[in-house]
Amino acid sequence: FLKGKTALITGSTSGIGLAYAKALAGEGANVAINGFGHADEIEQERQSLAAASGADAVYINTDLTTEQGCADLMEQAIAKFGAVDILINNAGMQHVAPIDEFPVAMWDKIIALNLSSAFHTSRLAIPGMKQKGWGRIIMTASAHSLTASPFKVAYVSAKHALAGMTKTIALELAEQNITANCISPGYVWTPLVENQIPDTMKARGMTREQVINDVLLEREPTKKFTQPADLGALALFLCSDAAANITGTNISADGGWTAQ
Ligand code: NAD
Repeated sequence: FLKGKTALITGSTSGIGLAYAKALAGEGANVAINGFGHADEIEQERQSLAAASGADAVYINTDLTTEQGCADLMEQAIAKFGAVDILINNAGMQHVAPIDEFPVAMWDKIIALNLSSAFHTSRLAIPGMKQKGWGRIIMTASAHSLTASPFKVAYVSAKHALAGMTKTIALELAEQNITANCISPGYVWTPLVENQIPDTMKARGMTREQVINDVLLEREPTKKFTQPADLGALALFLCSDAAANITGTNISADGGWTAQ
């Protein structure tokens, strides 16, 4: 149902972003992917996205911690496809340290990537959406856009602000068929999360099951990870006509974490 539409997903060379790209390509959208990684692996993903969509898939390699990198990304996507109809601001990073030891450069980088990049890509995508009278903006926020954890000051600050930005965009564009919503996962089963398990088992003398239930999923009542493909399905729903009147929301996919 997305034939003829173009989706740009930031931070989509792996994890959740790649799952969004697969879901949108599966419905026939052109996709522009972005992020870092091995050139040959990215090229392989790009080819399989193009094959899945029957449309086009491009990889745009820019660093979204800078305004210029965001501008270059949007310029290249718009030059290729004419406009970006669906923008998913997903690129993000984490750093864990007490606030009084938090590296200032890391604060700046996380605010730039997790928050400011979404401002830049959105402001540059919106004119094309207005012109077409249709648009979807989706942010990957986090349970940490609604609640905090210690030692994650930059991440929690950026994600809370991202939820505020989303509401603002939703209000500004409410009458123009352009929606803006957050998807807020708890722990998602990605290689990044899976790879933490052996180290945590060793560090804490725990079994794999204990690490999963008592550490990673400690705050998630369902004791289940969210799957990247399920977030892809949620993004697809937000792009559908059925979701045309859903805007300014922050949809949790966190196993009940933020219900507590
Ligand atoms: P990931 O590390 O697998 O993916 C991050 C993506 O961003 C990668 O494609 C990476 O190359 C890209 N990226 C990193 N720095 C970049 C930069 N400077 N410029 C452009 N791209 C850059 O992580 P993920 O788990 O898939 O996370 C995606 C989003 O989901 C993030 O915003 C994260 O905060 C959020 N999130 C993740 C989880 C989880 O459990 N994995 C939970 C809640 C929210």
